[in-house]
Amino acid sequence: MADKLCWLGHAFFEIETSAGQNILIDPFWEDNPAAGSRPDHGDIILITHDHFDHCDNLAEFLAADGIIVGQPEVLNKIRAGSGESLQEENFVLAGSGMNIGGTVNVKDVDITMVQAFHSSDAGSPAGYIIQTPEGKTFYHAGDTGIFGGMDVLGDIYDIDIAMLPIGSVFTMDPKQAAHAVKLLQPETAVPMHYGTFEVLVQSADEFCRLVARKMQDVEVMAIEPGETIEC
Ligand SMILES: [Zn+2]
Repeated sequence: MADKLCWLGHAFFEIETSAGQNILIDPFWEDNPAAGSRPDHGDIILITHDHFDHCDNLAEFLAADGIIVGQPEVLNKIRAGSGESLQEENFVLAGSGMNIGGTVNVKDVDITMVQAFHSSDAGSPAGYIIQTPEGKTFYHAGDTGIFGGMDVLGDIYDIDIAMLPIGSVFTMDPKQAAHAVKLLQPETAVPMHYGTFEVLVQSADEFCRLVARKMQDVEVMAIEPGETIEC
């Protein structure tokens, strides 16, 4: 059995681990013009920041004993906005949250929060390193511009799959994202946060071309929303 990664459109991904945990990252379903197939549920839901296109429909997707992971300020805002539907026990460490540099083990998955350069109404933006029981390491960059510390992340973590925004305007464009691949040195790069809205870069073609030129040994998998790859 292998871990599976499904792109659900925009920055929304589902990792189904070989041990059976369903991890959702940055849910954006109802108003997502690029939504893929509908995920069943999340045992763990990771939130990179609190913009509408990254934390939508949380209560709807959360499993009965599911845990939402994010920064304390972001979790407080989500809880306050949920009416009574989300309680302390629905959040990591009973709502205490976590922060950049820290690792928590949730349902046998090691989750490390790392920096991202963007904005967030509450807290600050983040990315995640996710290490599954299978031994695979995923990196979800969140919304971010390129930053020099990506090479440090690449040195510390042996990244198998990096999910990187390439859509420009709000995040890295294909040129920055291709250089990010060089810094991170993952086995596989999966582009995201493009094509969803008219203002964003509409295809992954340039990103694929640039990575092929700079980093021949990295495989780019520009999958379609709803498509799953085995990792
Ligand atoms: Zn975004």
